[in-house]
Amino acid sequence: MLYGSTRNGHTEKITGSRAVIQGISSDGGLFVPETIPALGIDIEALGNMTYNQIACHILGIYFPEFTKEQLREAVSRAYDGKFGTPVPVPITSVGNTHFLELYHGPTLAFKDMALSLLPELMRLSLDREGIEEEIVILTATSGDTGKAALEGFKNQEGVRVVVFYPQDGVSAMQQLQMTTEDGVNCYVAAVNGNFDTAQSGVKEIFGDRAMAEKLMKQGYRLSSANSINIGRLVPQIVYYVYGYAHLVKTGAVKAGEAINVSVPTGNFGNILAAYYARAMGIPIGRFICASNRNNVLYDFFKTGVYDRNRALVPTSSPSMDILISSNLERLLYEACGRDGGEVDRLMTDLRETGRYTVTDSMRAVMQDFYGAYADENQVFETIESVFDAGMLIDTHTAVGVYALRQYREETGDATPCLVASTASPFKFSHDVGRALGLPVGSLDFYEASQALAKEAGLPVPAQLEKLRTSPVRFEKTYKREEMPQVVADFLGLQ
Ligand SMILES: *Cc1c(COP(=O)(O)O)cnc(C)c1O
Repeated sequence: MLYGSTRNGHTEKITGSRAVIQGISSDGGLFVPETIPALGIDIEALGNMTYNQIACHILGIYFPEFTKEQLREAVSRAYDGKFGTPVPVPITSVGNTHFLELYHGPTLAFKDMALSLLPELMRLSLDREGIEEEIVILTATSGDTGKAALEGFKNQEGVRVVVFYPQDGVSAMQQLQMTTEDGVNCYVAAVNGNFDTAQSGVKEIFGDRAMAEKLMKQGYRLSSANSINIGRLVPQIVYYVYGYAHLVKTGAVKAGEAINVSVPTGNFGNILAAYYARAMGIPIGRFICASNRNNVLYDFFKTGVYDRNRALVPTSSPSMDILISSNLERLLYEACGRDGGEVDRLMTDLRETGRYTVTDSMRAVMQDFYGAYADENQVFETIESVFDAGMLIDTHTAVGVYALRQYREETGDATPCLVASTASPFKFSHDVGRALGLPVGSLDFYEASQALAKEAGLPVPAQLEKLRTSPVRFEKTYKREEMPQVVADFLGLQ
């Protein structure tokens, strides 16, 4: 199993372990397997496997350079004892809508599914490739990635983590999660501005040659925990396979019968993993791509034109407030018949004009993607009506449910659907509480969570309880220009 780039400039094929370390190809493209492999196991057999066993099986296909024992240990370290539930991903069904609960990890959002495992894959990869330098993970976050990366990599030998978050772009709880981080190898910095400011600042550090030289001389190597890393994509395939096996096992569908998936989407990583799961053999009919008011992807699937030339609208589902969905590049690559030159042209258009247009034949390949979006009122109404049906969901998941309802109404297709439930409702207690008509306006995040817990008859997650008593370690806010110096100071660069 070797990996190439989605663009034309890099023809050398590399192993998965090198792709994990490198993160992004030298031509700016994303790493993709030479062919998307088959699952190689029948559906009924999957039903008798645990989450960890399915994870090991899939990782073994994508990373054959690691032994079964290494992978078993990696998966165990990633998931065992770190999730608040007996299985990492419980599934709750309401009629023929099945919630894939991806939010029971350390940070209460689905990023934990991949970011618990990426550090393990990174460690194995560094060993295998004989890399001696200390790895510096640099990340800009719109809220959930930052804390998940900190938790994943904390106290790991040979790795340092620096997270930049936008001063004005994250929720109070997300901020507290990051500023109370206690990993000895971690640094957290607020940046004046929004997510784009933090993101472009990080990109500039990656592109800074003088900085790169300094780092190299002192034994450091930059890497990223960004969702384009193949080491994040592969762990996300696992839960779709597990979810389908679960539906077969419980009799919700027959083996081989198709399901749909609905995925609240930002950077397009999660829904792309579902697409990979289908290419591997899981019968998925439609991919419902759910957006909030930042509906670039809805427009794209509707018209074939991707256009980021619009203002970013802050919403109650901040982890989806994104105008450039990086992982879409991997779908474009498949849609144009794996033509790196074509992807290169599209990405050049995006960089230079902020937009690109795909051909009719590419649109035909992507026709199983259905775009829909929800505005803020629709999100709040959905939270309320799903709660009345017996399920408490967060703002992001509500976008997914709303999109599914749109889809079902428009098409009449009542196929059982897995909804990716991407965050705990308690991570967004104020908005969820407000949607349910609770008087949470003047409460702090913890009190709001308690009010929500009482209303729903659920416990406040222990992950949140811990936050209340953890001291804040990082209080400084920096200007964008100061970001390189923040990294230099933390690493003690001369
Ligand atoms: C990151 C995130 C998303 C978006 O996922 P992508 O893989 O970026 O499309 C949705 N919901 C939550 C809660 C997230 O943290």
